[in-house]
Amino acid sequence: MPKTTAALVIPASGVPFEQSTIERRDLRDDDISIDIRYAGICHSDIHTAREEWGPARFPLVPGHEIAGVVAEVGPSVTRFKVGDRVGVGCMVDSCGECAMCKDGEEQFCERGAVMTYGSIGYDDEVTYGGYSQSVVVSERFTCRIPEELEFEHAAPLLCAGITTYAPLVRWGAGPGKKVAVVGMGGLGHVGVKIAAAMGAEVTVLSRSLAKSEDARTYGATHHYSTAEESTFEELAGRFDVILNTVSADLPMGDYLGLLRPFGAIVNVGLPPSSYEFAPGAVVGRSRVLAGSMIGGIADTQAMLDFCAKHGVGAEVEVITADEVMTAYDKVVAGDVRYRYVIDTSTIQPK
Ligand code: NAP
Ligand code: ZN
Repeated sequence: MPKTTAALVIPASGVPFEQSTIERRDLRDDDISIDIRYAGICHSDIHTAREEWGPARFPLVPGHEIAGVVAEVGPSVTRFKVGDRVGVGCMVDSCGECAMCKDGEEQFCERGAVMTYGSIGYDDEVTYGGYSQSVVVSERFTCRIPEELEFEHAAPLLCAGITTYAPLVRWGAGPGKKVAVVGMGGLGHVGVKIAAAMGAEVTVLSRSLAKSEDARTYGATHHYSTAEESTFEELAGRFDVILNTVSADLPMGDYLGLLRPFGAIVNVGLPPSSYEFAPGAVVGRSRVLAGSMIGGIADTQAMLDFCAKHGVGAEVEVITADEVMTAYDKVVAGDVRYRYVIDTSTIQPK
């Protein structure tokens, strides 16, 4: 019998969250049932719930930054046991057989990865995310949360951590490299910590200087306001890698001008608008404008292990289920330091 669990549900387009219940499937052989402790609020949840990326699938239960404890395991599960500390990120299934899956890049599965919420699983059932008290996931899509990381600080790493870690590795952040992080929000602040832990020289580019002190605490050595014209003159041609995490439109041409020859902007922000830049902005100095989408499961585990080793966790504000609607507005207004995390034990079906 499928199990009923408490969840924060948006029943239909444009309607507020309700504290309600959903059903989780019976465990398949390779499934794990997880008691969720905390679920992070990613800006992608907000883009989705507000249908800024196009129509969403309702009822919607967002949440792809999940941390909790294994409550039950299916008969063929080998890597986890009851009581283990685990996390689930943006994906819950993929074919496991295509070249991308075999390469550990399940997000690019040729059959189509099944996302943690608002997606249709291979069983034709809609997926419901982490704003809930439990979830059933294949062990293939479950990561181990090292003891050093507390659940609430670890939850956001399952999206914000891997989304910044994977491109920083891919584009060579490390000693001797100058890395800029644009936008110090949920993704950005974790990106700053990870890039600094990798040994890069990190600069934060923010809308104002309000986060300067925090940026330095997280390992940045420089912090600039992009509201000042002089910032773009002073930093022209400086960076090897720029990680853009901004959730809104950006004058991309101006930022391309901050790259050294052959330098790369890696874009992870997903505003609904388009970027505009002149071809010369990339042709000149052979610059690169790249994108990056989350990261595979093995890389997600590597990221968690890296964060545990280097003492990197997300800075969080823990909230109750009642506070989620307000939290969404605050994230959009930039009024969060730096990730809201829902204490899922506070979800009370009415
Ligand atoms: P967030 O916490 O809201 O952070 C975004 C940051 O961007 C803000 O803190 C702010 O930094 C800056 N910003 C916001 N509005 C701005 C504006 N109007 N103009 C200039 N800067 C602005 O969001 P997040 O959760 O980190 O997510 C960031 C983006 O990444 C979202 O679009 C999300 O959908 C996307 N995302 C992509 C992936 C992927 O796989 N590529 C994964 C997860 C999320 P300052 O105050 O420092 O300026
Ligand atoms: Zn996310």
